[in-house]
Amino acid sequence: MADTKQGRAKQADDEANRQRERDRAEARKRGDEADPDAPATCYRRDCAEPAAFVVVERYQEEGGHGAVEARVELCATHTAEERPVNLDAVYDDYVFRVEPLPDSA
Ligand SMILES: [Zn+2]
Repeated sequence: MADTKQGRAKQADDEANRQRERDRAEARKRGDEADPDAPATCYRRDCAEPAAFVVVERYQEEGGHGAVEARVELCATHTAEERPVNLDAVYDDYVFRVEPLPDSA
């Protein structure tokens, strides 16, 4: 019967809505636990650690349009995993540098 099928679809919607609500509640809880004065969190997706370092890589943009400076704020663990990724774009002023964030000293 059409009514039954509609009922099932409605139930599925309700379940999806409940899941979304749970996800939002989780996000709120995580947000509340974060120190508002804390530095930015790690740039890596799925990492909620506070950023401890800025990893800077400066390289020559492809096509010779000039230097590009990429900066990402990462936690200590993910900073340790960082490595130069643009070695094919190295030039005289190429830089790969790790800078401690002021707050983490
Ligand atoms: Zn991290």
